[in-house]
Amino acid sequence: MSRELLIAGGGLGGLAAAIAARRAGWEARLFEQAWVLSEVGAGIQLGPNATRILREWGLLEGALREQAFEPQRLRVRDGVDGAELASLPLGGAMEQRYGAPYLTLHRADLQAALLAAAMEAGLRLHTGRKVERVSTLDGCVRASAGPGPEVEGEALVAADGLWSEVRAGVVRDGPPAVTGHLAYRGLVRQADLPPPLRSREVTVWLAPRMHLVTYPVRGGEVLNAVCVVEGGVAGDPRSWDQLAVRAELEAALGPACAQARDQIAAIPEWRLWALHDRPPVGSADCLAQGRVALLGDAAHPMRPYLAQGAGMAIEDARELQRVLAIADDRVVDVPTAFRRYALNRWQRVARVQAGARRNGTIFHAQGPLRAARNLGLRLLGARLLDQPWLYGAGF
Ligand SMILES: Cc1cc2nc3c(=O)[nH]c(=O)nc-3n(C[C@H](O)[C@H](O)[C@H](O)COP(=O)(O)OP(=O)(O)OC[C@H]3O[C@@H](n4cnc5c(N)ncnc54)[C@H](O)[C@@H]3O)c2cc1C
Repeated sequence: MSRELLIAGGGLGGLAAAIAARRAGWEARLFEQAWVLSEVGAGIQLGPNATRILREWGLLEGALREQAFEPQRLRVRDGVDGAELASLPLGGAMEQRYGAPYLTLHRADLQAALLAAAMEAGLRLHTGRKVERVSTLDGCVRASAGPGPEVEGEALVAADGLWSEVRAGVVRDGPPAVTGHLAYRGLVRQADLPPPLRSREVTVWLAPRMHLVTYPVRGGEVLNAVCVVEGGVAGDPRSWDQLAVRAELEAALGPACAQARDQIAAIPEWRLWALHDRPPVGSADCLAQGRVALLGDAAHPMRPYLAQGAGMAIEDARELQRVLAIADDRVVDVPTAFRRYALNRWQRVARVQAGARRNGTIFHAQGPLRAARNLGLRLLGARLLDQPWLYGAGF
């Protein structure tokens, strides 16, 4: 008889978990609080560690392959004088080195591809249902899923994001921390940009207390921009999508050079996110307890400075697939399988969380640290930008 996994949350992580469960031979029922699954209008970068899994799941063929963009290079510039500091070949070089591509996508395109794959695999999706309380009773897990009745399964995955209510009942470590960093995001059609501002690469501008990243999405037709600044406040700290005030962004740019400012000025509308995170995961207990496992931002929210939050959620899901496939309740019961999941994941995700924090300090450096960073990038170039420990197989 097929076994049933309950999933709380239908973001990129929850949908990846649904695909994983179906591939492991489990029934999957996903409860999403929103009535309609939607993703914010913004881009996302996926390294080979994540695209390798998407390829294994058959997602890199068809629509997603056309919507995704494969940039040929990552270029890092000093955001004050505009000088190029270092670059890393992506494109074929990544595929050759890591056996999978480095892709940039619109989040809605990735979400649509994950949803289509999960539905095709037999996901049972329940929207407009909020999971708030979870309890475990002999051999099963029960969850509230209001406004409907309670639901029951053999295991539950909490993929309910940064403000996870399931985590609050499992790990009990309070809300995530305010970082004091604000992320502004915007999109513009490349055809609407003057030619010098169009780009087919990932470009990162590093300046004191801020940085700007641009990359193409939607097959290259649209340029995505993310500008992170330190200081300032966002109206609603929990909102994933607030309209930003351009003047506040411009005021936070400090000594940013004309080229970076021109790029920012060319984005017609900016949306705003207040960034939160948690300290790096400290033990396997933070990722799973009994029949409940945490995944994605619910488990290990991180700053976006390694561009790996969703990548880690996809990796989590792949590991979940492995442990669900061996959970049979005779030799390996669900708590043992979830314990393995947690043991196999916690150090990896903690390293990525810590690396993302460190990158933020380096990206936004001022004074002597900025000079040392620029010298290091000039001398070591691609060797500093490449991340074999992150992108390589066998995580
Ligand atoms: C500025 C910025 C840039 C980023 N860039 C990148 C990048 O380039 N590459 C990358 O890999 N990552 C990036 N990330 C990180 C990435 O966006 C997140 O890590 C990822 O989206 C997390 O997915 P998730 O499914 O875990 O959580 P979420 O996307 O938050 O999904 C959670 C879902 O659960 C639902 N939900 C919440 N509570 C409940 C409940 N009680 N019951 C039912 N449903 C519930 C929500 O409605 C939502 O649909 C970036 C993040 C930011 C802020």
